[in-house]
Amino acid sequence: MIKAKETKSNINFSKLFYMSFDLDELFEKKYPSAIFFLANNQGQMITMREIGGYLPGVIELVYQLPEKLVADQLPFEDNDYLVDAIPITLQGGNGDWEGYFGAILAVDEASRETVRTLLLGFRQSIVMTAKYIECKQQYDFYKKNETIEQKLKELLLQVTKKFHSSMDVSAILAEIIDALKQVFPSFDITILLSHEWDVSEELPIKQLCYSNGQRNDAATNAYLTGKIQIEDIIEDRKSVVYAPLRGKQGVYGVLKIMATNSFVFPQHEIDFIEVLADTGGNAIENAELYQQSRQLVEDLQLINKTSHQLNSNLRLSETISYMTQQIKSSFSAQEIGFFMFRPNGDIEVIEGSTSFFFKDTNLSDIKAFCDRIKKDKDALFIGDLASNEPHLLKPYRSFIAVPMIQSGELKGAVMIVHEHAYYFSFNKFKLLQSLIHHSTLAFTNSMLHEELEKLVITDHLTRLYARNYLDEKVQQSMNQDAYGCFILIDIDNFKQINDIYGHQVGDDIIIQVANVIKKNIKTSDIAARWGGEELAVYLSKVDQEVGVTVAERIREKVAQETSPRVTVSCGVSEWKQVDKDKSLKTLFNHADQALYTAKRTGKNIVVVFDENTCYM
Ligand code: GH3
Ligand code: MG
Ligand code: MG
Repeated sequence: MIKAKETKSNINFSKLFYMSFDLDELFEKKYPSAIFFLANNQGQMITMREIGGYLPGVIELVYQLPEKLVADQLPFEDNDYLVDAIPITLQGGNGDWEGYFGAILAVDEASRETVRTLLLGFRQSIVMTAKYIECKQQYDFYKKNETIEQKLKELLLQVTKKFHSSMDVSAILAEIIDALKQVFPSFDITILLSHEWDVSEELPIKQLCYSNGQRNDAATNAYLTGKIQIEDIIEDRKSVVYAPLRGKQGVYGVLKIMATNSFVFPQHEIDFIEVLADTGGNAIENAELYQQSRQLVEDLQLINKTSHQLNSNLRLSETISYMTQQIKSSFSAQEIGFFMFRPNGDIEVIEGSTSFFFKDTNLSDIKAFCDRIKKDKDALFIGDLASNEPHLLKPYRSFIAVPMIQSGELKGAVMIVHEHAYYFSFNKFKLLQSLIHHSTLAFTNSMLHEELEKLVITDHLTRLYARNYLDEKVQQSMNQDAYGCFILIDIDNFKQINDIYGHQVGDDIIIQVANVIKKNIKTSDIAARWGGEELAVYLSKVDQEVGVTVAERIREKVAQETSPRVTVSCGVSEWKQVDKDKSLKTLFNHADQALYTAKRTGKNIVVVFDENTCYM
């Protein structure tokens, strides 16, 4: 088979050949059958054109041609054929092409005489046609480019205007892709991003990976050098342009435009891509800086507002409830837990945390994380619990835990969770750390304050309330309720207990009696140490009848449950809103008088104050 050798010329030889010969009808009459051909310098056939009928045995002549050319034996005759060729130079886009223009004719006198003249004449025609084609191509190309360049400029202007009005990275990327799609509708366009932005999933956006794989080398180069890269993948017949999305402070990604079928990007298109990528890179940078500064302001506002609120409000449960609300809205966390680490090793879930953390079934998981925090004294940021800690805190997957450290001492921890994996960004993690850092002082203050408060109102021996707290609460009730009942309790013959068993056992008996009282009243009732071995209970919104039942129950239980066994006597008094002048002092006095009666009538008894039987 005759195969045209690859040539670098961009001349379309067969088209040229046909254009050059089209007019000559006369020729066909004179030479009923002939072959005209173009051969390269080595005599190899590039293209040929047959005129008239078929010439058998011509192929052998074509094979001989290179040999004869090199030996300069032209024209030559073989059997019935005459072969001749003359050199020809053609103008093409990539420079001149040099070769031979020749003919194969049936041998006769006429052809022997005319073949050279014929070839010379036609050569002229071919050379001229080649020139014409070249000029026409250049002209068309220029005309086409002129309009395309104009269009590209307009498009760039449009896109740039849109960039300036957008502070949203996703919108800018969509705009870049849209512009590229307009210019290269059939090309494959991808944006490789180096940052993780929250962009629309519909956009052809991928993460830029700095892998060592060959395929990404040009992309990585474009990213690292900030220079446009053009890659021709010959075996796939593809041309790819990688344009870095440059801003002033860095490169944000790479535009990848892939042309199929060995398309070569003309310079003006590469220029367009470069300008678009630059404008886009700057727009992304602006949007990013804007978002960052806005986020920073928001974060600072959150910390500021929270610290302010915390410092102005010292109730711990209120502090925690407030923090829980703030974290819920700023972090979109689904559950938030605050934990105090007690000196004895206990972990206390603080009131105001969300319900998940109060469930008994979650306690061991919470403890596992608290132990880790106690050990490392560091925050935990887990993107997906399902793959890191598959058995912990189900069904939640995103997890952040931040320790509360005050003056170098670990006080507790905060945990937040979300059911979606990788839900919290690294920035949110840092923000929570900063927020907790700024709030820990307020937490510990609240806690100290509450502990101090408890200390003040608690009797240290019995852990019942102190007398002054009881006074305060009774007064409060007298101001706001309709009625209430007061029970004064005194241990019988206590002096003897002290004498027989000693003071230590005496103290223990007081504690035992206090515990019996605690067990037999409701949480809304207030039990206090009245003084010495005398204890008291105040029942708000309880009348005398019920008060006596409570006193009677306490009296019975003390007799049954104390060891060494003691009994108590109780004096009960009440107040009602109707007897307006009854003061706190009178209420106590009346109970005291009833107790006095109880002591006189045999002890281990409950006596109700009665105007007629009790007297001062
Ligand atoms: P009565 O049945 O009449 O109440 O006899 P009583 O022995 O209990 O007499 P009274 O209430 O007058 O005496 C109270 C005694 O309780 C006086 C004191 O020694 C003792 N006492 C008071 N406070 C404490 C205390 O905190 N611890 C101990 N161990 N004893 C106390
Ligand atoms: Mg007494
Ligand atoms: Mg006593």
